[in-house]
Amino acid sequence: MICEIDDNAKAKAPGAGGWRLEHSYGQLPSLLHVAVGPTAVRAPRMVVWNRKLAEELGLDAGADAGRGAMLAEIFSGNVLPPRAAPLAQAYAGHQYGHFTTLGDGRAILLGEQITPRGERFDVQLKGAGPTPFSRRGDGRATLGAMLREYVISEAMHALGIPTTRSLAVVATGEEVWRQDGARPGAVLTRVAASHVRVGTFEWVAARQDEVAKKALVAYTLQRHYPELAGAENLPLALLGAVIERQARLIAQWMSVGFVHGVMNTDNMALSGETIDYGPCAFMEAYEPATVFSSIDRDGRYAYGNQPQIGQWNIARFAETLLSELHPQEEQAIELATEAIGGFGKSFQRQWLAGMRRKLGLFNEEPEDGALIESLLAWMHTAKADFTTTFAELETLGATEPGRASEFQEWLVRWQARLARQPQSAKEVRRLRRANCPAVIPRNHRVEEALAAAEAGDVSVMERLLTVLAAPYDHGRARAADLVEYRMPAPEGGEEYRTFCGT
Ligand code: AMP
Ligand code: MG
Repeated sequence: MICEIDDNAKAKAPGAGGWRLEHSYGQLPSLLHVAVGPTAVRAPRMVVWNRKLAEELGLDAGADAGRGAMLAEIFSGNVLPPRAAPLAQAYAGHQYGHFTTLGDGRAILLGEQITPRGERFDVQLKGAGPTPFSRRGDGRATLGAMLREYVISEAMHALGIPTTRSLAVVATGEEVWRQDGARPGAVLTRVAASHVRVGTFEWVAARQDEVAKKALVAYTLQRHYPELAGAENLPLALLGAVIERQARLIAQWMSVGFVHGVMNTDNMALSGETIDYGPCAFMEAYEPATVFSSIDRDGRYAYGNQPQIGQWNIARFAETLLSELHPQEEQAIELATEAIGGFGKSFQRQWLAGMRRKLGLFNEEPEDGALIESLLAWMHTAKADFTTTFAELETLGATEPGRASEFQEWLVRWQARLARQPQSAKEVRRLRRANCPAVIPRNHRVEEALAAAEAGDVSVMERLLTVLAAPYDHGRARAADLVEYRMPAPEGGEEYRTFCGT
């Protein structure tokens, strides 16, 4: 995964072959994008290379010494791959509830890679230099923040949660100035089903460009929801499908204790992928009010608020579609309101289904919701670690008889519930293990890996990435050498803070 750079090999290096770039986004109305290339960096050096992902994309993944140098040139933006047509995307968004125009201020789309399986993925360089949307920003990113996105996005992928991926992090050899002083700069290569966001629709709606809006609706449908092609009311079908995917995504976040941290509408992708890993982190002790972002003072994006914020964002999306939903405004509003109301129901249904799986429940009983809520209520008072509690429910009961009787009573209820389904204990365990990760990116482990990498030692991160790649391998996670990855942070873990926009 890690490339040793050999300067002598640079000249004869073949670079990554296998590029097959197309540019459907660039063909959308010009309101939506600006052609701009990356700004060259001084001394690119590959820090992490996702060989497996490169293979899936059809890129020649081999990172031998010589190729490593050329890969660093490409994934820093110094050398463009064949047929790249770099652009920055225009978009708007509601940030902390306030509407603003944004656009890619530091990200540049090279194009859409067509994989050997015929799939289409955006290949975007994040931190590749200024664009017309940069405003006062420098267009750059820090090595720590890009490695953080790499680790957490790849962990999310391994957890089975839809997400953008990370192909490479290249150190630029340049310094980036942030509040806390000079930091090493880096470029992250982000791979996404697309970068169409709720904010993209807000942008065309704000500009009142009906032609661009229609084009964007058609584009999003074709790219992400081709199965809706025959629908009678296509924009309404799109709204419904986006609601379903977002509700599912947020239910999945909730089921692993993930706090996105900055659910602005520009950070909600219509593909249904998790996007924009800034101040995100995983909750340890169960606490719905958990917030990690240093700037989220009111807890708008707290763990327990995520479903409501998802629905709020969907309402902003629906507003942009009103003119498309029905020629009469009143009826359009009626259709939109009904659809938005469906978000809560869809979330609730998918959340419940996910929690049932975590408890090993195969069938449905009306009291399941209450059973889950009472476990969560106990976890809340006991400040129980979210991940280990779910992963080790059986043993918790057996090994800690001194636990609060509330929990013992709950275990009795759960066992009685399990007894009312035909599945064996083995089947229950299998279902639970497939839905309760043994390992998540623990904040103190992530910080430790980033600090080591920033100091020049990537081995700590490499090891962490290996562990995070198999979160449901409970057998492996129980091995003595991995115990340290399963355990929550020592005292003070709840005080963990993350910093945005770096
Ligand atoms: P985010 O909070 O990461 O979604 O970013 C919000 C907006 O700020 C987007 O338009 C970004 O492109 C822009 N942005 C973030 N960091 C920088 C930077 N260092 N230089 C220029 N633009 C930036
Ligand atoms: Mg963003």
